[in-house]
Amino acid sequence: MSPLTPPGTLHVVATPIGNLADLSPRGMDTLRAVDAICAEDTRHTRQLLGHFGIERPLLALHEHNEADIAGRLVPRLQAGESLALVSDAGTPLVSDPGFRLVRAARAAGIRVSPVPGACALVAGLSVAGLPSDRFVFEGFLPAKGGARRSRLHALAAETRTLLFYESAHRIGESLDDMAHAFGGGRPAVVARELTKLFETVLDGSLDALRAQVAVDANQRRGEFVVMVHGAPEAIDAREAEGRRVYAVLAKHLPPSSAARIAAELTGASRKSLYGGGDGN
Ligand code: SAM
Repeated sequence: MSPLTPPGTLHVVATPIGNLADLSPRGMDTLRAVDAICAEDTRHTRQLLGHFGIERPLLALHEHNEADIAGRLVPRLQAGESLALVSDAGTPLVSDPGFRLVRAARAAGIRVSPVPGACALVAGLSVAGLPSDRFVFEGFLPAKGGARRSRLHALAAETRTLLFYESAHRIGESLDDMAHAFGGGRPAVVARELTKLFETVLDGSLDALRAQVAVDANQRRGEFVVMVHGAPEAIDAREAEGRRVYAVLAKHLPPSSAARIAAELTGASRKSLYGGGDGN
């Protein structure tokens, strides 16, 4: 028994999203040591393993057979086998299969242990320069135009940074629909082919980005993470009045006095007026 793979454990192993050097040493060791590897596409995973000289039995686990396979793998884990779960790229379960197997294993009291690594949404967020303390990951938008537009309109008032996965087929249409739903001036970032040879990270307003992607066919190739600045925080009527009064007073008084008086007159927060009020 390897200390890396205690018996009866399901290891959820992240694989690279492009650059093969991003498979972690522990990921490699784990894949080498387990009894078998559950893979979304066994041919794809065999190639990856081949690159690292790893040979282990592979089991296909994809969205169409996952419920059935989970039912068969749990007894194997209970009998003491150690298994790994990988997807084609990045972190399993993130817009990828695996959740049913993990749920079934946990329900059976089996240890499920992560070997973290690449994940396109985290890689994208880490280079976007958008607020990242709170964000929402929306995965893939619906393929059909009507459903996509209603999903986007439902998100128009979301104040947290929005993250989407997108494919080459739909990047242009999705950016157009985002500009309509969120307003063309909304800041956004399009991260393409992260960690690969033709990696690009474009930022600008949604209108500028969709224009750039429309005129440059290269910018419509590959895999994408689209990130959009959240909507400005809605402010209540008292704060709005406070800002109006502060703006008038600040023409004649030092900002701190203007803020104090505006806060007294309107009930708005002094702190939000002095140094605040820029709409961020
Ligand atoms: N599980 C993966 C992860 O951890 O990111 C995501 C799998 S999902 C089926 C594939 C989507 O992830 C692509 O369509 C694209 O939106 C995004 N993606 C994957 N690799 C990427 C890369 N190198 N650059 C940008 N986006 C990528």
